[in-house]
Amino acid sequence: MNAAALLALQDIDSALTTIANKRPRLPELAAHKAALAAVAAHRERMAAAQARIDAAAASIEAAEHASADITTKRSRLEAQLKTVIAPREAEALMSQIATLNAQRDELDVQELEALDEQAAGEGELAELSAALPALETAAAATEAELTRATAELDAEDADLHARRPVAVAELTAEEVGAYDRARQHFDGVAVARLDGHRCHGCHLDLSPAEMDVVKGTPAGQLPECPQCGRYLVR
Ligand SMILES: [Zn+2]
Repeated sequence: MNAAALLALQDIDSALTTIANKRPRLPELAAHKAALAAVAAHRERMAAAQARIDAAAASIEAAEHASADITTKRSRLEAQLKTVIAPREAEALMSQIATLNAQRDELDVQELEALDEQAAGEGELAELSAALPALETAAAATEAELTRATAELDAEDADLHARRPVAVAELTAEEVGAYDRARQHFDGVAVARLDGHRCHGCHLDLSPAEMDVVKGTPAGQLPECPQCGRYLVR
């Protein structure tokens, strides 16, 4: 087994795995998502302010309609009043007119309240609208940062993919097959460095007797870690 070439291939594949794991965990991605969420939440507040304005406008319109109806009714009663002679009839009409006047006063109060509400909603919306561009600019900046960070990973990825066939070319088909099987079996790490007595695959120390077995492995064969079973390269 070409230990050096196997280890080179393993290093490339491990680096590719690291890049793939980095992508969803990029701090730039989290920052961009947070900035987008801030813009969305702000737009929701703007929509709520607009709904407040619309509701106030609708009640202003309703009050004005009702007021106009009352005015029409009152004009009719006032015209009637000019023609009646009997005092009791006149009294009854005046009482109805007074009721209508009270209703109109009530509507006027409602309309004033709605006008206040509309003005407050418009003030709120103006404030929120003024703050929106800064949030959008911040979101665009985080997007640019994310694009830059992603491009960096893409470049590393492309470099590793270019180097991989070169490393594979150093190995026989049999060695590549054994490597691929071991990688599937050992969760991506088929070949581990033996650092002193320690296996870098499982991070356990080999006993002196196990070290003797490793050292006694015939040339051309790769020893396996007695703990995890990975190929060991010294
Ligand atoms: Zn091990």
